[in-house]
Amino acid sequence: MPNITIAIDGYSSTGKSTVAKQLADWLDYVYVDTGAMYRAVTLYAMQNGMIENETVNREKLIAALPYIRLDFQKNENGKAEIHLNGKNVETDIRHLDVSEYVSPVATISEVRKKLVEQQQAMGNGMGVVMDGRDIGTVVFPDAELKIFMTASAEQRATRRYNELLGRGDAVSYQDVLENVQERDRIDTSRADSPLRKASDAIEIDNSEMNLEDQFHTILQLAKDRIAGRV
Ligand code: C5P
Repeated sequence: MPNITIAIDGYSSTGKSTVAKQLADWLDYVYVDTGAMYRAVTLYAMQNGMIENETVNREKLIAALPYIRLDFQKNENGKAEIHLNGKNVETDIRHLDVSEYVSPVATISEVRKKLVEQQQAMGNGMGVVMDGRDIGTVVFPDAELKIFMTASAEQRATRRYNELLGRGDAVSYQDVLENVQERDRIDTSRADSPLRKASDAIEIDNSEMNLEDQFHTILQLAKDRIAGRV
């Protein structure tokens, strides 16, 4: 059976990574969470004094890019976790403070160029499920299957809020909702690679769908593409 490339894009907290991971496991494909890569670069900027007066110092971060090394390594349960310069930062990158700076960092073209090159190399020649904001439009414009996920901002904020609470983070629902809305605004309006539905992407609004329905819908689409049926 041929390997295909599956691009899953969409707004923040639409559950892209949950379904992408399930799909990759089922198909025995590589899974790449590109949001984790933007988050890890943001964490680097935060840890190295590149956020001043709540603003990202673009020049300093661009100058430091050659010193930022990202890679995914599987943990004992087989889950790929992101490492920043050799250190596992999978948990650190999920906190709300990183979420607050990640979209401004992701507007920087030099950051995008570096990460997109690495993403293209990771997916090259193998079955891959990649999720993010620009996978179907920029990273893999020829992907065989493109999904664009949406859900209401309130639904998405509720999911993210519960996830953060579950991790023990003391956050308010209102802060999470505002962060989701602000990231949507920046991600859709930036000049370089804005979040857009690719013209050949299939839109899935999962506001009223459970995880299982969503997984089976996308799995069926993937099976059809792999079999060359559509
Ligand atoms: O997917 P996640 O919500 O973790 O992504 C965090 C942020 O990283 C997004 O809000 C967006 O600003 C940026 N991002 C991006 N392009 C991608 C993946 C994520 O700009 N392919």
